[in-house]
Amino acid sequence: MRRIPASADAPGAGRRLLLAEDDPDLTEMLTELLTAEGYAVDVARDGQGALHQALNGRHEVAVLDRGLPHVDGLTVLGRLRSAGWSIPVLVLSAFGTLRDRVDGLDAGAEDYLVKPFDVEELLARLRALLRRHLEDATVLRVPGGRLDTRARIVSPSGVPGVRAASGPVVELSGREAALLEVFARRPSRVFGRGELRDRVFPDAEAANVVDTYVHYLRRKLGRRVVRTVHGVGYQLGAVSAVDGGVP
Ligand code: CA
Repeated sequence: MRRIPASADAPGAGRRLLLAEDDPDLTEMLTELLTAEGYAVDVARDGQGALHQALNGRHEVAVLDRGLPHVDGLTVLGRLRSAGWSIPVLVLSAFGTLRDRVDGLDAGAEDYLVKPFDVEELLARLRALLRRHLEDATVLRVPGGRLDTRARIVSPSGVPGVRAASGPVVELSGREAALLEVFARRPSRVFGRGELRDRVFPDAEAANVVDTYVHYLRRKLGRRVVRTVHGVGYQLGAVSAVDGGVP
């Protein structure tokens, strides 16, 4: 099958994807395919590696094999979910009974695909997952809470059974909310000032309007809400496990 080279318009659009799979042939095939689709792929080959990478990475979506060595895929997912890790996950499994699918969804998977699967179906399901969770979502995770893009508020989020939500609800101006939304929809991407300016402040005259609004966001939401990437631009601050909550 011939594929067009990845670009910013490719479905994956540079989104960082965690692939946890122990079968070397399948891993190689999927990595190639997902990379061609535009994803930036990180591979974990066992459950421990998947846990470590998931908790320390900036992934936007994950494909998780159920049968992983050391710690099985559903245990990995359960631990990640109870730590408040909320990115969308598609579970791959050799088991396809109703009970297995229900177990997968109960463990916190958004979707479940039985091996052997058609690769086009996997790609289509990933696209649907991302649309539901990032592109169409109106409540997005940000460091310390959740941004409601319609209400233009950030609410603090807790982790069920771990930490109660605390702190005030913060109201944002239209431009502040629009800027934070750009970051929150693409948490693994670094944006240049020029692009941010074109997207959020096309009519602005001040040269430093992006810096000014990043300053406003930090003043309202804390310094770590937006991360400065020197020489490049800005990125959403790290959403740590304790920020928790499923959008
Ligand atoms: Ca396996």
